Amino acid sequence: MSIIKDFLLQLTLLIIPIFIYFTFILERVKKDRNITVIMTILWGISILLCMSFPVNVGETARLDIRFIPLLLGTLYLGFWPGILLSTLIILYRLSLGVSLGFYNTVLVLVLSLPVILYFQKSFIRSKKDKKAVIALGLSFYYCVLGLTIFTILIGFSFDYLKVQLLHLVFMVAVTLFCIVFIEKIREIHQLRSDVQNSEKLRVISELTSVFAHEIRNPMQVTRGFLQLLDDPDLPHKKKEYIKVSIEELDRANEIIDDFLAFGKPSENLNGKVNAGDQVERVANLIQSFSLNHQVEIKTDIVGDCWIDANPQKINQSLINIMKNAVESMPNGGIIWVACSPDADGFIRISIKDQGVGMTKQQIDRLGNPYYSLKEKGTGLGMMVSFQIIRSFKGKIFVNSEKGAGTEFIILLPQAVF
Ligand code: ADP
Ligand code: MG
Repeated sequence: MSIIKDFLLQLTLLIIPIFIYFTFILERVKKDRNITVIMTILWGISILLCMSFPVNVGETARLDIRFIPLLLGTLYLGFWPGILLSTLIILYRLSLGVSLGFYNTVLVLVLSLPVILYFQKSFIRSKKDKKAVIALGLSFYYCVLGLTIFTILIGFSFDYLKVQLLHLVFMVAVTLFCIVFIEKIREIHQLRSDVQNSEKLRVISELTSVFAHEIRNPMQVTRGFLQLLDDPDLPHKKKEYIKVSIEELDRANEIIDDFLAFGKPSENLNGKVNAGDQVERVANLIQSFSLNHQVEIKTDIVGDCWIDANPQKINQSLINIMKNAVESMPNGGIIWVACSPDADGFIRISIKDQGVGMTKQQIDRLGNPYYSLKEKGTGLGMMVSFQIIRSFKGKIFVNSEKGAGTEFIILLPQAVF
């Protein structure tokens, strides 16, 4: 019974890095290199813990599932993490003393690591089911190898064989569990970013007709002036017509630029972003949409507002919030958009409307998927915006009064230079 208890403890030690990865790292750390470093360290800790609390069998044998963090680390992270984790195992085993067990460890590793590395590339490319099969095969191979080498080095014992078989079943089951678990959570995460993208496309398609209109306006104005230029009776106004035409064309160009910037597929590019510029940009972009609804947008950007973020994602969430603000004022009104650094090391963005407002219950439901009070709403805009802001360690507060208006306050940590 106590052997099973020990094995279960090992399982717990193994799952900790997986949990840490999905709760704290996946959303926040964007660079692949950093993720690899952090995960190698986490798997390393897991290996040390598993080896520190082994399942002791008799005098000589220590069993643990250190191989699983090594296996998962190597399969998901690649060559160097695999080498590092193996070295860690050898060094830790060495610190316990050079005995037959040590040689056993080294031999098993030397014979199993190349096999894992050989399968690593095809593992990464495979679908969930094939991944499970590869990992199971490797796990099985490791156990049989371990048993064989142990028998050669130390000798055969029936009791030990029994425990080894239990070890084998446990290893295979845990490997399967981990792969299914990791892949399932990855799938959920993927689904989430798919929703973000499809929501973005929806907003674009909704705004497109307004933009087409916005771009047609300057073209028509310019066309009119070009016609007038042809008129021989108006020579003194020529300069002004040309100036206005150029201004109009520049404006059309700007609208197209903003629109394209928003429509571009988001790359995972984080960096120093001036939130003030982005707020200004989004306010400009939404201006054409808002004027259609008799809504005016007033911006007030103060100081340098540098944050660490992905500009496209920040824009996406600002657009969702401003678009809601416009839509909350069916009879027109004003939206105040402000952005400034505050005293606590945050950049504060506030978007305040004079719209229909929300009750306490409505505010609480904000950000839940598919929660919408609009006839043609999707109820995904707020969910996506909240996700984005949180992923940059930001916070969102909503103050609203039914019939009076709503204020969204976004706090994002200031960038450190
Ligand atoms: P959608 O805009 O498609 O309805 P959202 O997730 O963007 O979905 O918004 C969800 C709901 O939250 C809206 O239907 C609306 O009832 C409410 N809401 C969001 N922003 C505001 C606002 N500024 N004023 C009033 N209600 C709002
Ligand atoms: Mg919306």
